[in-house]
Amino acid sequence: MNKKDVDVDTILYLAHPQSDGALSKSALQALTAAKELSSQMGMDLAVALLGEDVQSAADSIADCGASKFLGVSGAPYAQARYATDAAAIEALCRAAEPAIVICGSSSRFNRVLPGVASRLGGYADLQATAIGQSEGKPSIGRWYYRQRIRAQLVREQRPWFIALEPGNHEAYSSAGGSATVEAVSPPEPASRTTVEGLQKPAGDAQTVRPDAELLFVAGTGWTKKQADGEIHIEEAESIILDTLSKTDASLGGTKSLVDVSGEGQAVLSFMTHLNQVGQTGAIPRHPKGLATCCHGEEPHVVGWRFINERRAVNIDGNCGWAHGKADVLYVADAFEVMRKVNALLESQ
Ligand SMILES: Cc1cc2nc3c(=O)[nH]c(=O)nc-3n(C[C@H](O)[C@H](O)[C@H](O)COP(=O)(O)OP(=O)(O)OC[C@H]3O[C@@H](n4cnc5c(N)ncnc54)[C@H](O)[C@@H]3O)c2cc1C
Repeated sequence: MNKKDVDVDTILYLAHPQSDGALSKSALQALTAAKELSSQMGMDLAVALLGEDVQSAADSIADCGASKFLGVSGAPYAQARYATDAAAIEALCRAAEPAIVICGSSSRFNRVLPGVASRLGGYADLQATAIGQSEGKPSIGRWYYRQRIRAQLVREQRPWFIALEPGNHEAYSSAGGSATVEAVSPPEPASRTTVEGLQKPAGDAQTVRPDAELLFVAGTGWTKKQADGEIHIEEAESIILDTLSKTDASLGGTKSLVDVSGEGQAVLSFMTHLNQVGQTGAIPRHPKGLATCCHGEEPHVVGWRFINERRAVNIDGNCGWAHGKADVLYVADAFEVMRKVNALLESQ
């Protein structure tokens, strides 16, 4: 694809419907960003959808101001598969000839966009946290070094694929309408992958919940000998799961706790490396956080940098949280505190 003039070109909004046919919240947030950029830059907005059936998704955003809706649909596009997704997105881009392609981050798109950008001679930036303009040119914001350095980037390569992380724009909302979708037919790619089905944990086993109001962190204290000289893993598990189900909190863990899980020691069975918060773990964003049986060491607490209100429960009044890292430290036994909290939540 030829390099195009930035100022008079098309922004292609790219999305795939979820299994219920609707667009995800993150996809709708990316649409808001694409719309804002198109009006700021005076660029045309077009929509490209891929999925088994894209009509209801197109109808749900029919009034978004797009000049056209393009769609690749059919059974091969029902689920993520590199060969078919790459062929579909390439064909959609060749049809729309965009300067910029904006989508919400999803594992499906993040996997395939760099390859498609390479095929089209463009460039892909994943994990953008802002889309705007800098000195009259489209730009993105993103973090480096685990959110220590924030950069604003402008690129010359076109098409420029931008995958926007969730939570940075309002989700586009609309009463819907009726969209005319122009069908695009990619050449059938040589694919050796057959998707036989999906295996995933049950919904209630999902403990990482980015949209939750509360981050509930468990530290290794839950797995250590308590005042009676015994370990109480089963009770710890049931208290924590009870708290999670009553609060819909997202579960975080310390590195020490997720590491002992990996070593096959007495551990909380539902805790994995995906739950780890900190310097070498995740840096989640929740309005509130409660740390329990967690010492509050710096490499853990740096993962709390975007948690607005921080509280901790620790039997040690001199733990790391006491040194200005928490707004409130309850010097108490977390088993007792959380049992009481659960009972209060139950009675509400
Ligand atoms: C390079 C590097 C990177 C690291 N990255 C990370 C990271 O990303 N994330 C991370 O978490 N750590 C990280 N660490 C490790 C970090 O420094 C700490 O070792 C770790 O966070 C400690 O975990 P913890 O608080 O669960 O365990 P501990 O330090 O053992 O603390 C357990 C706490 O539980 C309390 N406790 C025990 N029983 C009770 C009870 N009944 N009620 C209340 N409190 C109780 C104890 O008082 C104690 O404070 C990193 C370290 C290094 C060197």
